[in-house]
Amino acid sequence: MNIAKHASHSFLAVMVVFALLSRPALAEVSQEKQTVLDWLSQPETVTKFGRISDAIWSYAELGLQEHKSSALLIKTLEEAGFTVKRGLAGMPTCFVASYGSGKPVIGILVEYDALPTLSQKGRVAKPDPVVAGAPGHGCGHNLMASAATAAAIAVKQAMEKHALTGTIKLFGSPAEEILVSRPYMVRAGLFKGVDAVINNHAGSSFQTAYGVAGSAMISVTFRFQGKTAHSGSAPWSGRSALDAVEIMNVAANYLREHLHFSARMHYVIPDGGEAPNVVPDRARVWYFLRSSDEKLEEMYQRVVNCAKGAALATGTELAEVRVLAAAHQSHHNKALAELMMKNIELVGMPKWTEEEHAFARALQKTLGSATKGMPTKIGTMEKPAAVFTGGASSDHGDVTLVAPTATIKFPGIAGGAQGHHWSTVACGFGSTAWKGASAGAKAMAASAIDLLTQPDALAAIRKEFTEYSKKHPYKSFLPTNAKPPLEFYDKLMNQYRSAMEAFYLDAERGKEMKP
Ligand SMILES: [Zn+2]
Repeated sequence: MNIAKHASHSFLAVMVVFALLSRPALAEVSQEKQTVLDWLSQPETVTKFGRISDAIWSYAELGLQEHKSSALLIKTLEEAGFTVKRGLAGMPTCFVASYGSGKPVIGILVEYDALPTLSQKGRVAKPDPVVAGAPGHGCGHNLMASAATAAAIAVKQAMEKHALTGTIKLFGSPAEEILVSRPYMVRAGLFKGVDAVINNHAGSSFQTAYGVAGSAMISVTFRFQGKTAHSGSAPWSGRSALDAVEIMNVAANYLREHLHFSARMHYVIPDGGEAPNVVPDRARVWYFLRSSDEKLEEMYQRVVNCAKGAALATGTELAEVRVLAAAHQSHHNKALAELMMKNIELVGMPKWTEEEHAFARALQKTLGSATKGMPTKIGTMEKPAAVFTGGASSDHGDVTLVAPTATIKFPGIAGGAQGHHWSTVACGFGSTAWKGASAGAKAMAASAIDLLTQPDALAAIRKEFTEYSKKHPYKSFLPTNAKPPLEFYDKLMNQYRSAMEAFYLDAERGKEMKP
């Protein structure tokens, strides 16, 4: 025997074994998991939930106005055998759909609100609104609505078929874009007894993350009351509420320099008077204040002081400080994110057609970003940033502090499309959205199956959560008297709803591509 040859064969064999071991292990495909994957892969399932995604995309309802969107999801869930409680936590469009009984209780979060001004035709690679100025789904919540609902129903089917014990709950969470619902849902006790929560977000990647992410945020309006007068003949008789808003903003902008560099502060003036020749006796400014959990309340107090100073300087009254929403940073559970990542690896990136890549490239060209087409590979589990530099916020942060939670980011949107922008609305409709939502639903459902069937994995997730909670006990940033601002988008939605109705898509019959 040639010893050298034998040695090299052994070496190769060892290397092969080593390579196999060092590869991330794919999640075990149990019978239960196979049931959810098979059902979600059926063409009729993909079509049904694709049409639901497109219908909600066409409704494009703003926060707390999601009456048609939530009704469609509730109908779909009730038809599938879920028990739905609606109108929860003081919000008509908030619901919880449950199936099963007893422990473990696994939650999935679902969002369905749109953003103002972003109306855009589906799969058109340049700005082209369906109804100019109307809302649009610029954050992919329509994909998330359909994916999370499909996942919950898939899990229910596996629970039934394989006689699994436990409860699956879908948390219908309105108004995420204005960060309203989750802190109120936590306050109403809806997450009591929930063992783990699967959050999700549509985008261009397929991955998860762990650790602290995003900014805590307070959304607050300041209303000033002054005294009206003729601006030309007797301005000395007036006290301008608009002056108070402007002085407050100047003060806040000087304050900016002395805030931690991770802080963010932005405002709009929804009410600043109607005519220059009438001294405005009322004015209102709306602020988003963002910072870390530790620094947010101090920042808020300093901005309130800017408002008080402006009232004093202008002889007006600071008539109302109204906190509309207040949310924590999120803390994603590592053990749960690892469990989800294995299921993302199992599901894999959807296969896109050449037409889908071509549309993505056309959009990327319009936006001046790299013309890479649709993403072809899944991502990796993201680590928390070494230094917190601030960023966007999500009100699911509060949920992460009362139950172990992690987020599955799933694809469907072309890379380079911008969030809260017409380009995401253009991508969130039709074939790539259907495929992305289907992949997201599979990863969510497969993860829920693991949580229902692997008590050791759930115990490790719970242990990590309990240890973190000891150091970070939950206390809501909401003032005790705060209420969901139900009327907030009434006027804006009513302004566009009738014009948009002509373009609504029917989830049942799947009227095609009218927008
Ligand atoms: Zn958003």
